[in-house]
Amino acid sequence: MMLKGKNAIVTGSTSGIGLSVAEALAKQGANVVINGFGDEREIKKIQTDIEQLGVRSAYIGADMSKPDEIAAMVEQVEAEFGGVDVLVNNAGIQYTSLIEDFPTEKWDAVLAINLSSSFHTIRSAIPGMRARNWGRIVNIASAHGLVASATKAAYVAAKHGVVGLTKVVALETADTGITCNAVCPGWVLTPLVQKQVDERAQREGTSVEKAKQALLAEKQPSGEFVTTGQVAAMTIFLCSDDASQIRGAAFSIDGGWVAQ
Ligand code: NAD
Repeated sequence: MMLKGKNAIVTGSTSGIGLSVAEALAKQGANVVINGFGDEREIKKIQTDIEQLGVRSAYIGADMSKPDEIAAMVEQVEAEFGGVDVLVNNAGIQYTSLIEDFPTEKWDAVLAINLSSSFHTIRSAIPGMRARNWGRIVNIASAHGLVASATKAAYVAAKHGVVGLTKVVALETADTGITCNAVCPGWVLTPLVQKQVDERAQREGTSVEKAKQALLAEKQPSGEFVTTGQVAAMTIFLCSDDASQIRGAAFSIDGGWVAQ
């Protein structure tokens, strides 16, 4: 219960990695604010499951592409919970296309949700963290924050941006009890990746299973997916006292993807 009494926001926590991170934070005793889109009943169930771990939870459906909704979310958590101690910037979307065909509105949406949202959450949460001289900011970047792939101009630009933003925030808070780090997962089989697997199976006229293996073979030398629990475990470690001198780092959990 290392985070007992702390308050956490996990953006995009109605699914995939964010959901796993939210559960892991609750298991450490943190009160957790859930954010993201989804079915009302399923979100209620997520909240109930979290509360059964003996912590408080709330759901705030702020759209991470809207700066005013992001600022209002942080204000609401400060008012209702007393502060934001742990901030996990996780909300993200993907869009693939050659750059010459990339719709400008898709570029804007990917940059807004995958990069600018972290700027907005961090700038709103930092004053409170400074006042309490403690904070943990974990940005869920990607292997694509460190290396590129074709057809992912917006995603790769956004995730490289997240790694850069992480370093700046770490430097600006270096003499405080606030740390800011990034986690860079390879392929994790969440709805975001399942969509790419399904598209690949369709495009190549193969089975979904074959498309999964092809996806892994291309990038991830271990040949296995990273699990959401493994990303959550790294996030929890970065929230610990043992990690207090880890600042501005980008941790790969990618089956060897960026070692190549
Ligand atoms: P996911 O699709 O399962 O979850 C994405 C979450 O973001 C959902 O809760 C969704 O509702 C939320 N979201 C999307 N747009 C939003 C918006 N405008 N406002 C608020 N919430 C919004 O995807 P995931 O794979 O769990 O991805 C989570 C993060 O991990 C993303 O930033 C993604 O880029 C990153 N990541 C994923 C992988 C992978 O292989 N799955 C690898 C590296 C990095």
